[in-house]
Amino acid sequence: MAARRPVVGGNWKMNTDLLSAVDLAQSLVRVLPNLGPIDVVLFPPFTNLQAVRQVIEGTALQLGGQNVFWRDSGAFTGEISALMLRSVGCDWVLVGHSERRRLLGESSEVVNHKLHVVLRHGLSAIVAVGETQDERHSGQMEAVLADQLRESLAEVVREDMDRVVLAYEPVWAIGTGETATPDQAQQAHSFIRGVVRDLAGDDVARALRIQYGGSVTAANAATLMAKPDIDGALVGGASLKPDEFAAIVAAASP
Ligand code: PEP
Repeated sequence: MAARRPVVGGNWKMNTDLLSAVDLAQSLVRVLPNLGPIDVVLFPPFTNLQAVRQVIEGTALQLGGQNVFWRDSGAFTGEISALMLRSVGCDWVLVGHSERRRLLGESSEVVNHKLHVVLRHGLSAIVAVGETQDERHSGQMEAVLADQLRESLAEVVREDMDRVVLAYEPVWAIGTGETATPDQAQQAHSFIRGVVRDLAGDDVARALRIQYGGSVTAANAATLMAKPDIDGALVGGASLKPDEFAAIVAAASP
């Protein structure tokens, strides 16, 4: 089978105002001039999408929304639809980030609605899953991941799975400076691939790209990316530092 094309996402979260977003995007264009066979996707806040798109136009950098609502239009104050994201140049949407699951009460059922709308409009999705520290320590990691995957991916047809990337993001490693060891991450990725094999078959599972996310830095990226089931990274804090992010992209590049 052909090697899986790595994918690195920079999740800027609720950081950057208009000027600093443009500045960051310009720096990223500068430090990432020649991308090889890798997808690099920037996820700025909604308010900066259009400005960032103008900066990265004509480069290989891609654009994504950090969130989406599951309806196309209407009386949903404060929400943003997949069509709106597409209209400002997004090809990707991040769904199921643990900050949304934990802080904003998003269930896997909601994540599933969002995933369907993303796929219906021809966009690609990064779907994040991951266990908490307590769940890991009480031996529930696999059950939690399997439930999140089954519910988040419900009714997604096999043909659409090539536009789905999964991100394994252990909640205890996000923004904490504590990273899963490469072996812990590999074990979880291999488990996730196995669940997808049960859900969608061997071809889909083998082609599926699974990112690791959780305090990825320039210092730890290479050892994580060397693992056979790790196909890239979803990066929070370090994605705001151009040189650091470029080093992570280099570590993930084939
Ligand atoms: C994330 O936001 O998905 C993330 C992994 O954040 P950090 O890299 O800061 O841990």
